[in-house]
Amino acid sequence: MKLLEILKRAFLTRICLICKEAISYDEDEPFCEECIEKWNAFLKAKCHVCGYDRNGCTCLPSQVKQINDSLAAWCVFYDPRENQKINEIIFKLKKNYNREIINMCAKRMAKAIISLCVVHKIDYKKYIITYTPRRMHNFLKYGFDHSGKLAKAIGEILGLKVEKTIKNIGKKEQKKLNKNDRKLNAQKSYEIRKNFDGNGKNYFLIDDIMTTGSTLYACAKLLYENGAKNVIPVTFAKDNKQFIRRNKNVKRHTGNNIARVIKSFMRNGSQ
Ligand SMILES: [Zn+2]
Ligand SMILES: [Zn+2]
Repeated sequence: MKLLEILKRAFLTRICLICKEAISYDEDEPFCEECIEKWNAFLKAKCHVCGYDRNGCTCLPSQVKQINDSLAAWCVFYDPRENQKINEIIFKLKKNYNREIINMCAKRMAKAIISLCVVHKIDYKKYIITYTPRRMHNFLKYGFDHSGKLAKAIGEILGLKVEKTIKNIGKKEQKKLNKNDRKLNAQKSYEIRKNFDGNGKNYFLIDDIMTTGSTLYACAKLLYENGAKNVIPVTFAKDNKQFIRRNKNVKRHTGNNIARVIKSFMRNGSQ
């Protein structure tokens, strides 16, 4: 054990990331036993739209479907109203550099990559890890690039090379934009690094959350345009809000249509 690790164990209390209770350094995950159960329940949660769990759900944003024939790996459904704790963890992942959170998410993401590769008979060893880089403004503000950290940790777990391939030259934050503006903004926000040569290489493209898929699509497009053979998006969470909203809209429209038909029938009937 490294000296630093011995000192840390002697003087710092390790706390559960969810409930903040003290936990032993021997625990595998940075959670207490009670919270591990909650966490595992989050991971097994079912999709609100299709009803399948993470392994069966294929509700992917249209832009992600276009990257590599709907191949994508992710670990949890992200719905802040439902899973407040996951929301907090993602918030911490982005805003405070915490190696335990990075490693925990990276471990899950590496598992998700392996399951996807087993199901689709892909040799993951032929892949290189790359990531969607953070905006310079946020990199300076928070002092780290969480996707870069995730990429590095996943590379270590899977024994894969990590390559910086893309530069973020964006000015606007994606989060505050609507779907169409996100798409336009993402296209303007990234450029391929000088001397990049995809030359038939395969990439796992790492990001934290898949929302509309604009960022992943814009980055994957650059990799393909510069010679990459395969790009598979990999995120920690998948935001299902848009699918839920769309489903609600469908119901509402149908309701309105029925109301319109009844009204028009009554109007015509009374003439
Ligand atoms: Zn706990
Ligand atoms: Zn689904």
